Amino acid sequence: MKRKLPPVKSYIQALVPYPPGKPIDELTREYGITRVIKLASNENPLGPSPGAVAAIQEDLRNLHRYPDGSGYYLKAALSHYLGIEPEGLFIGNGSNEIIELALKTFLVPGDEVLSPFPSFLMYSKTVQALGGKNKFIPLKRYRVDLDGLLEGLGPRSRAIIVCNPNNPTGTVIDRKAWERFLERVPPRVLVLLDEAYIDFVDDPECPQGIDYLGTEKNLLVIRTFSKAYGLAGLRIGYGLARPELTDLMNRVRQPFNVNSLALAGARGALLDTKFYNKTKRIIREGKGFLEENFKDLGLPYVPSQANFILVKVPLPAQELYENLLRRGVIIRSMKSFGLDRHIRVNVGLPAENKKFIKALRRVLEE
Ligand SMILES: *Cc1c(COP(=O)(O)O)cnc(C)c1O
Repeated sequence: MKRKLPPVKSYIQALVPYPPGKPIDELTREYGITRVIKLASNENPLGPSPGAVAAIQEDLRNLHRYPDGSGYYLKAALSHYLGIEPEGLFIGNGSNEIIELALKTFLVPGDEVLSPFPSFLMYSKTVQALGGKNKFIPLKRYRVDLDGLLEGLGPRSRAIIVCNPNNPTGTVIDRKAWERFLERVPPRVLVLLDEAYIDFVDDPECPQGIDYLGTEKNLLVIRTFSKAYGLAGLRIGYGLARPELTDLMNRVRQPFNVNSLALAGARGALLDTKFYNKTKRIIREGKGFLEENFKDLGLPYVPSQANFILVKVPLPAQELYENLLRRGVIIRSMKSFGLDRHIRVNVGLPAENKKFIKALRRVLEE
């Protein structure tokens, strides 16, 4: 007998689950391989920041206490590091939570959110889960189309999301286009600038959201400790905005939205500049190695300002994914982004990059 569910909102019923990845241990068992390298989630190949790990160990003794709900010490550290008043900072359980809280704060069901396509899948899922409507603005030559986003605005548009560098293309917006965009965007629209990969950018023409917080527009800049600081498993990120905006979001969040180890770890990571700089160096060098090899293999790729590369492949992405997996390498097929012949691979350690290229050559020769 089929049991009845309580009434479910139609937009909840229409949600598609986030594609779940299997744990690495499970894959090694299933495929009978001894070592798997994962280049699929843009994680830090060096592991976590040692400064973060030490700070977490130190903080373990306080686990019986509730976390500091105001994030006082982390905000003080960020404030010092960024030159921003603590009131303009917002801390979240991963930057994903900040996206969700911002939309929860400002979106009324039925409102529209504009975002680039393809871009980070969590944007549209979050909008949908809150009863909002997604309007996708296609990339132009793999780049976020800022003019297109403005032209797409309608009477019920409440927010525009810009991912810079954009995931999965690794491309950045240009300073002039961004300034023109900010000038023209109406104040009733929240601009959500996701800078998850900003740490990896080398292009001097790429604008940084932090330089535009003084404008009259409603800008929320989001950053994360998941990538350059190696703390994806800890779940912590931060937002920068006018205090009027963070004040409203603070009313919506749970009082202890970020756990105490995350607060301690993020602070430790922020002080660990050695690890941060080493990460940037290894990504830059690894990216160079991968690009050389893609050229050599005749595979078109999108030059990237992030820690991953979008590559065009001569066979269905899903097939390539499975063939590489059999050889112990996990990459991301871009099929779910509508890019059936593209993969996204993130930069790993030098030995991992080599293993990936070797496996890729084999698969392409088959
Ligand atoms: C990885 C990533 C994030 C990070 O999310 P967290 O919740 O902070 O781990 C945010 N935005 C994009 C586009 C990403 O790819």
